[in-house]
Amino acid sequence: MAVQRISLGPLVDALLAHGYRVVGPTVRDGAIVLSELDSADALPYGWGVDTGPGRYRLRERGDRAAFGHAAGPQSWKRFLHPPRRPLWTADREGAGFTVTEPDEDPVRYAFLGVRACDLRAIGVLDRVLGNVDRGYAARRAGTFVVAVSCTEPAGTCFCAATGTGPAITAGHDTAGHDLALTELVEPDGVTYLAEAATPAGADLLATLPTRPAPAELVERAGAAVAAAADRMGRSLPEADLRDLLAGARNAARWDDVAGRCLSCGNCTMVCPTCFCTTVEDTTDLTGEHAQRWLRWDSCFDLDFSYLHGGAVRTSTRSRYRQWLSHKLGAWHDQFGESGCVGCGRCIAWCPAGIDITEEITALAADVKGS
Ligand code: SF4
Ligand code: SF4
Repeated sequence: MAVQRISLGPLVDALLAHGYRVVGPTVRDGAIVLSELDSADALPYGWGVDTGPGRYRLRERGDRAAFGHAAGPQSWKRFLHPPRRPLWTADREGAGFTVTEPDEDPVRYAFLGVRACDLRAIGVLDRVLGNVDRGYAARRAGTFVVAVSCTEPAGTCFCAATGTGPAITAGHDTAGHDLALTELVEPDGVTYLAEAATPAGADLLATLPTRPAPAELVERAGAAVAAAADRMGRSLPEADLRDLLAGARNAARWDDVAGRCLSCGNCTMVCPTCFCTTVEDTTDLTGEHAQRWLRWDSCFDLDFSYLHGGAVRTSTRSRYRQWLSHKLGAWHDQFGESGCVGCGRCIAWCPAGIDITEEITALAADVKGS
């Protein structure tokens, strides 16, 4: 089907009518968060964001764009790979226990407004968790994805450097999407162009009121996305980062960043590809019931590297080095790609304003100079 002009109201209504729980951006607590939507009215019309190292602020745009903002503090990870969930419950029965696993979550999500960087991040999670986590696989299989090409990169974005955005393009190496939208903001209003990428996307599009998009409109939308790539203020060194990090184990820069890093783990919590978890066991006071929970963990926690006898990475230096070396380097060995999709969240939400692009650039200089 050719590119169509659509409106967001009927799109959200149609997704709800198909039984999806629609999750998309909305304004809450001074940020653009991802939340369940009961209509398109909840979208953050007219809101943009200003971001920088350790900085995130809403700003009024002066137009009615719904997707005129970059990544917020949350990512789609929290819906596919929830921060905390029960693994099993044990109940005492006589001298023994009965162990029950929770039913797989039957929820069917429709994600509305997935950017190219986050689409790639979902692809990363699919490769890491898709074959080993039944709950993840079940949630993922039921998810309908409405992707949106980005025309508004924030100051912290660098998806053009990681090759993961800003356009949602055919053949893009991602988890896949069902519908691709482009939001075109022009002086006389906001237009939404939609293109189906799967049969499910085409079926949904066929139920919506649409008008074919003239070629010049499609061209202007493409130009707006290309301009977004040119406006990104951050980049990565022109080097093989895997090799660079493998040779940077003793670089002086690790001491420099360790002097600023609080080891708080914010960067791992907001990152759309960080997937590490730990398990926690709880019992009630009667001793009759126990539960095992899975929850997100961070390589910045001292206990994360606890092996027999103690933690392996006892210094902030070693923990930051582990995070960066894994994310940009060893991830290639494990999963055949980078663990960074250039969304910039770790830069904006680091309370110390530590910038992954600045650190890797400084490391490259360190290694070159040594
Ligand atoms: S490392 Fe930072 S920029 Fe890269 S994907 Fe994670 S949060 Fe985004
Ligand atoms: S880099 Fe920033 S966000 Fe990450 S652990 Fe250090 S202080 Fe926290």
